[in-house]
Amino acid sequence: MTLYEPVIGLEVHAEMLTRSKMFCSCAVVDNTEAPPNTATCPVCLGMPGVLPTLNAEAVEMGLRVGLALGCTIPPFNQFARKNYFYPDLPRGYQISQYEYPLAINGFLDIDLPDGGTRRIRVRRAHLEEDTGKLTHTGDGASLVDLNRAGVPLLEIVSEPDLRSAEEAEAYARQLRSILQYLGVNHGDMSRGVLRFEANVSVRPAGSDELRTRTEIKNLNSIRGMVRAIQKEVERQIHLWESGQGVRQATLGWDDDRGQLIIQRTKESASDYRYFPEPDLPLLQISPEHVAEVRQGLPELPAARRDRFCRDLGLNRADAAILTAEQAVADYYEAALAAGGAPQPVANFLIGEIFRLMNADALGRDAIGTIKVTPEALAELLRLAQEGAINLNTAKRVLDILYAEGGDPARIVAERGLAQVTDEDAIRAAVDSVLAENPAEVEAYLAGSEKVAKFLMGQVMRALRGKGQPQAVQEALDEALAARRS
Ligand code: ADP
Ligand code: MG
Ligand code: ZN
Repeated sequence: MTLYEPVIGLEVHAEMLTRSKMFCSCAVVDNTEAPPNTATCPVCLGMPGVLPTLNAEAVEMGLRVGLALGCTIPPFNQFARKNYFYPDLPRGYQISQYEYPLAINGFLDIDLPDGGTRRIRVRRAHLEEDTGKLTHTGDGASLVDLNRAGVPLLEIVSEPDLRSAEEAEAYARQLRSILQYLGVNHGDMSRGVLRFEANVSVRPAGSDELRTRTEIKNLNSIRGMVRAIQKEVERQIHLWESGQGVRQATLGWDDDRGQLIIQRTKESASDYRYFPEPDLPLLQISPEHVAEVRQGLPELPAARRDRFCRDLGLNRADAAILTAEQAVADYYEAALAAGGAPQPVANFLIGEIFRLMNADALGRDAIGTIKVTPEALAELLRLAQEGAINLNTAKRVLDILYAEGGDPARIVAERGLAQVTDEDAIRAAVDSVLAENPAEVEAYLAGSEKVAKFLMGQVMRALRGKGQPQAVQEALDEALAARRS
């Protein structure tokens, strides 16, 4: 049997977080808040005789993305009409860019699960406008809301360089993270502000041919995208193996059922009758302006990750987790600024705080809203570091901080959680535990190591979890040794 390899290219539509729309001065509104069709005007409603004007902020944001992806910015841009009919597009054409896009020939270095990286080429990024939104009521009617019509979109198109669903996932996550760092998109796929389309083909492993591809739309989450790609790769391998071959098509994805839906055979560029938009002048972008935008770019996730490794001694995996979401990296750095040590803060953040947030179904970008402040986390770890509390207690205090907020030192004092280091108290606890568990002591003396752990646990319990572990262990060892002789 032939071994196949997937060939995947992603098209990403990202709404730009501008204040107004792409070609008119209507506000960009949150669809869950604004009543339908209230943020509209004759331009975005597609009335005859109106003229578009270009949104400079959208161009600026698109440039930032292009430059962050290492793209070349050509000296001029041209907008183009992409003609098609759909009820959510009242004009009958979408203003997009075709031959002369905003940014070309970039790349994104993705991190692979095995620790390596791979460079994925970005073919182009162009500006266009979003369409309206259709709601099918189920009783035969369809409602049109044009609040979204004309919202700026940046379409970012990769070369078909991705070789697995996992690589597509890494690309999608890292691209989303970059868009968030740049402040151009908050990355919430469930609200449709960021949409992925996956182009998928397969070919005999090792060959460099490009076979017929299909395009999967309606992907509402990165996890859904991964599942859809895996399904489609399997389907195509089966089609080649059974001699039927793959036909070009547009597919939908039903995430609840885990099913691909074949929607239609794909249109080609010539179906759209692209032609230059006569109502907008060419847009010239000077090298000086490009240099200025480049100057203003923030530190991006990969650079921040590398800095965390280099300056803080974190391993690459931890650093990648801490920098994937800008809010998490900011929180982490705030905890360090408050005196936290890099590794313990990283451990508590990744191991404990993320666990608590997961249990509450909170996304990591919500870290700025939790009740544990970065300062409190730093203080908590300082108490543990100084031996005022042990690690178990630190976790208990963290639970309290997470639920109620507050000051770690005061919580420790008020609830009597300070670590027990008093030797007499520890010895008394050891003696009573040994007296209460004669059978276990006997088993230990007969050579059972497991029992030693149990006895240690009992002593810690007798000390209500607050014993200084090393002192407890020593006292226990001593008492058991005395019983042996
Ligand atoms: P269109 O503009 O019709 O969508 P493009 O040629 O611009 O077509 O390609 C769109 C996307 O499809 C790009 O991301 C590209 O990388 C990807 N792509 C092109 N050919 C293939 C192929 N044979 N297999 C998988 N992906 C492909
Ligand atoms: Mg396409
Ligand atoms: Zn408008």
